[in-house]
Amino acid sequence: MTSGSQGVAELSARTTVVGVIGMPVDHSLSPRLHNAAFAALGLDWVSVAFPVAAGTAPTALAGARALGVRGLSVTMPHKEAVADAVDDATDTVRALGAANCVDLADGRLIGVNTDGAGFVAAVEEGGWFDPAGERCVVLGAGGAARAVVLALAEAGAVEVVVVNRTASRAVRAARLAGAVGRVGSAADVAGASLVVKATPAGMTGVGGAGHDEVAVPGRGQFVVDLVYDPPMTPWLTAAEAAGAQVRNGLGTLLHQAAFQLERWTGLQVPRRALWAAVAPDGGPGAPGRPS
Ligand code: NAP
Repeated sequence: MTSGSQGVAELSARTTVVGVIGMPVDHSLSPRLHNAAFAALGLDWVSVAFPVAAGTAPTALAGARALGVRGLSVTMPHKEAVADAVDDATDTVRALGAANCVDLADGRLIGVNTDGAGFVAAVEEGGWFDPAGERCVVLGAGGAARAVVLALAEAGAVEVVVVNRTASRAVRAARLAGAVGRVGSAADVAGASLVVKATPAGMTGVGGAGHDEVAVPGRGQFVVDLVYDPPMTPWLTAAEAAGAQVRNGLGTLLHQAAFQLERWTGLQVPRRALWAAVAPDGGPGAPGRPS
């Protein structure tokens, strides 16, 4: 892909197209991450955001197939519908019942889910935290929490405790961790090495000063809030003030995108180029931040 005088890619009939489907999708950072990777790799590829209304994901997938789109990232509210609509799916998609990516190689639709792998890569980045042998607590039991629970168990955590408002959802999420999974309560937070908040509390547009029912972690604990807008939620700020080492959800977003890009392109994606695209000055998601 070449660049014009204003840094705009010169697209042609040969340009390979990928994108992200979601609603809303106008503030998605995915095209920025994708296009940064394509620039770094010197590929004649482009990524765009496609607003796709709830309930219409199968139609969007059929259109993408007809148009020769190479890959799609999938965000709210389509992850479950896409998992149902694809021709084939990875084991992770089958376990979670949700796909955050479609690989359209050879006109077949393969459902993929890189959220959990992206999360683990984000906490491992820079040697920050290795889940193997550790006790972990996950707050929330929605789609993001489920991906994290499964990935932590696969990464060798010795215990994955799910804490959620709605008990039935907590039970289903904890089951994903098999023998190391269980449902817990706010009291479990204090005993965990890693505490992951996978609820939207404190997110821009959602609000909520903190978390409904959960204690704030502190010294000696590693803490991730999957929210990255704002960069620090009130809960993450409180955890840091209490002495915890904290990261927001930007790293998870970045690494799940990197794994998708690697699947589509078959090339290794330089993480540094992605970090430069979304956090040029570092920040609470970036590796190497003193904490
Ligand atoms: P979801 O499927 O709607 O699940 C939301 C979960 O949060 C549910 O378990 C819900 O509990 C719980 N919850 C909501 N508000 C709460 C509150 N005030 N106090 C306590 N619990 C609350 O959402 P999701 O897709 O899992 O996403 C969760 C968050 O992660 C969102 O903010 C999303 O933006 C973020 N996320 C980030 C990334 C990333 O790459 N960084 C990726 C995916 C998601 P109930 O079950 O009781 O309703």
